[in-house]
Amino acid sequence: MKPMGPIPPFFAGEEGMLLIGGCGAASLVEEAGDTPLFVYDMGIVEGQARAFRDAMPAALSLHYAVKANPHALLLERMAKLVDGFDVASGGELARALEAGMDAAHISFAGPGKRDDELIVAIDSGATINLESEGEARRAIALAERRGRTPKLAVRVNPDFDLKGSGMRMGGGAKPFGVDAERAAALARRVIEAGGEWRGWHIFAGSQALGAQALIETQAATVDLAARLSEAVGAAPPLVNLGGGFGIPYFPGDERLDIRPIGDALGGMLDRRADILQDSAFAMELGRWLVGEAGVYLTRIVDVKKSQGETFVVVDGGLHHQLAASGNFGTVVRRNYPIAVANRFGEASAEDAVTVVGCLCTPIDRLGDKVALPPVEEGDLVAIFLAGAYGASASPAAFLGHPAPRELLIG
Ligand SMILES: *Cc1c(COP(=O)(O)O)cnc(C)c1O
Repeated sequence: MKPMGPIPPFFAGEEGMLLIGGCGAASLVEEAGDTPLFVYDMGIVEGQARAFRDAMPAALSLHYAVKANPHALLLERMAKLVDGFDVASGGELARALEAGMDAAHISFAGPGKRDDELIVAIDSGATINLESEGEARRAIALAERRGRTPKLAVRVNPDFDLKGSGMRMGGGAKPFGVDAERAAALARRVIEAGGEWRGWHIFAGSQALGAQALIETQAATVDLAARLSEAVGAAPPLVNLGGGFGIPYFPGDERLDIRPIGDALGGMLDRRADILQDSAFAMELGRWLVGEAGVYLTRIVDVKKSQGETFVVVDGGLHHQLAASGNFGTVVRRNYPIAVANRFGEASAEDAVTVVGCLCTPIDRLGDKVALPPVEEGDLVAIFLAGAYGASASPAAFLGHPAPRELLIG
């Protein structure tokens, strides 16, 4: 048997049926029409947003990183729940505007923005987080031709990283942002060219579960923003401190207590350098807001044996939930929390089983030698932590199976 990550504390069973937002998993499948199905419980997302507001300094804005989950109905609800959206493509920008988010509160980061994407950002009034000097040159020229003032922030590749983060996106040679030592010069060029300089975007990493590492990174980020601003000789309207709050996916992981982070950040902002006195501050979070709110439900099609091992074959797979198969940014494959939704809370069978998807490839493994109750065809398997980097981050076209259904509740 191999261990699995902890089931998020929001889920319980009633008479053996997993409840999601107070509804039985089987009736949610009925409502949606069929499996495989992603269910997103907005009640959980709202609880996370509330916890953020309670713990963090009142002046800190909460932005949602749309790439975590761009489902249209979820974005509409998020637009009312958070203060801004961070998008990373022209497609996400279009979805953010469609969801009703004011362009004044949208920032557009990401390498390789094409001219047509820059034009939509310029025309709509969204802020472009510049990833390079070349991108700045193109954005300024395009805006000039259109007779508009572009809103431009500088994304900084910081000279430090977020320790313990699952995905490092700063420190060292990176395709993201401009190196810290060139950032002030780029901001000056934006101002001299007549652009509206919006400030700094400093994103050091993702999926961190250590409060102390996050506190140290935020301290270094506020410090870097102050030094860079002094070098520019202008106060940044906005400092985006990045994000990095993680969620527990794997055995031994624990939920992050953000209260000490909020206390520490409050102190840092109270003591901030003069040049940052009038600046606004924001954090951008993806998975921490939505990851735990999603459950992927998939039905058992076959139960078979091979050389003494039991394989439980489901109608979903890595084409919908790549991350649970261990093929999305993890080095070692570990088990996501997984349960049998219609036998929730039942004692597990003596022998572990391996849950595989319906794709004809050995990497389509959703649960490796996991302890589950005895199962049969037709049972519903629930894979947790499916609210972020699930449906939109998986190779849906691989093998030609249908797209998953998605249901928003709460
Ligand atoms: C992906 C990304 C995020 C969101 O990361 P999470 O780990 O989901 O919170 C935030 N900011 C930027 C710049 C990103 O690229």
